Amino acid sequence: MKYVLDSSCFINMSSLDFEECEAYTTPEVVKELKDFKSKALFNIINPEIREPRKEYVEIVKKKARITGDLNVLSKTDISVVALGIEIEGVVVSDDFDIQNICEELRIDWQSVSGMKIKKSFKREKYCQACGKKFSNDYVLNKCNVCGHKLKHRVVKTKKINKKE
Ligand SMILES: [Zn+2]
Repeated sequence: MKYVLDSSCFINMSSLDFEECEAYTTPEVVKELKDFKSKALFNIINPEIREPRKEYVEIVKKKARITGDLNVLSKTDISVVALGIEIEGVVVSDDFDIQNICEELRIDWQSVSGMKIKKSFKREKYCQACGKKFSNDYVLNKCNVCGHKLKHRVVKTKKINKKE
């Protein structure tokens, strides 16, 4: 089994559960590891560092644009999920937004420390002042009716049937 580890793995992991398996990560994750503990864990696990191919990054971005997750997912988050698709691995992350986009993309995922979403969610773009709703691919951040800044809110949740 292949695993793609995000930054939270090296920060939150207490045991070395992933030592014996095929572990991968992206250059973006490596850049995020700053403290001694996460760097030490990284050296022990010694994952293969791989940049996901562009077409897989695009798949993730396209989906995130629809679900409204695009502006909460960092470049690092997107790289981890994209690599997960490319190598058909399990994405390991404690980040709820990563878990959610994996769920949407039907990618197998796992939490590091047991922190995980029970429901997948969708975000909606809306105007706080006049209440107008916008589709998530609406590019501007201003309401075209009243000019106020747009916000995101969670609108739909779906229960996840996940085996423990
Ligand atoms: Zn408005």
